[in-house]
Amino acid sequence: MNRLAVLGQPIAHSLSPRMHAAAFRALGIDSDWSYEAIELSPDAFADGVQRLRREGYAGANVTIPHKARALDVASAASAAARAIGAANTLSFSADEIRAENTDAPGLIAALPIELGGARALVLGAGGAGRAAAWALKGAGARVDVHNRTHERAAGLAREIGVTAVESAGSPPLRGYDVIVNATSVGLDSGAASGGSENPRAGSELKELGFGADELTDRMVVVDLVYGSSPTELVSAADRAGAIVVDGHEILVRQGAESFRIWTGREPPLEAMRAAVKISKEPRE
Ligand code: NAP
Repeated sequence: MNRLAVLGQPIAHSLSPRMHAAAFRALGIDSDWSYEAIELSPDAFADGVQRLRREGYAGANVTIPHKARALDVASAASAAARAIGAANTLSFSADEIRAENTDAPGLIAALPIELGGARALVLGAGGAGRAAAWALKGAGARVDVHNRTHERAAGLAREIGVTAVESAGSPPLRGYDVIVNATSVGLDSGAASGGSENPRAGSELKELGFGADELTDRMVVVDLVYGSSPTELVSAADRAGAIVVDGHEILVRQGAESFRIWTGREPPLEAMRAAVKISKEPRE
């Protein structure tokens, strides 16, 4: 049996075990591969990873709050993981722990447009913002980053070679072809508790710093956040006629890239999508 896991804290509500189990079933390899969720505290992470390798696990996904630690614990890392400073995919062999970042290629795979010369705005400068900015730049886009805490956006911009924009809210959206929400805004409101009955409804776009009327049908709008109902950003972008890529699709695409690394097989995207979309659980 080839064993895989997702490591995080908290992790009980992760959709990844369900998504990968569906992929194994769709390819008829579910008697050879398994995938479970394992909770590890920050203090226990490095030892926990070594234990999994010794026990013969094939690899692991790594999620909040361990993506930077995953890079530290690895003996080899892809150029993307090193440049982004974070890894979400580990592969184990007898003498090596290899770290890769599939959030970056997952985002690019999810975007249905040619990115060469496109103007992209990334909102957020945490781990997801770093991966998004690096990936979009690598695909040829001109990337601006905006973050609530400007110094963090400025640091990211220096390291990755993109532009940090400073403004009270986000900069005017006019002129951008791609908008990526890589903040955690939306994580604990409409997405988790259900659309218009949510008492905080209307607040998410305000927190992001723009109005629904700035979204247009010429934009691709990506929201990394997802839950049991669409985020306000996804709903507003849909109403504006934008091309919308939601957080479930991003989850599927990063999972698909990890699946390909571990199994060497073409990931069954439709089975993976179906597995995450029927879920009522709001977390990664
Ligand atoms: P992180 O490192 O904690 O960064 C959080 C970011 O959100 C920071 O830029 C932070 O700004 C910003 N932020 C938080 N609250 C805000 C608010 N009220 N208004 C404006 N900005 C705010 O988190 P991360 O790892 O980058 O993840 C970001 C989000 O992406 C999470 O919701 C995560 O679940 C999601 N994600 C989804 C997938 C997927 O597969 N769909 C993959 C990766 C991440 P400051 O710097 O000012 O604090």
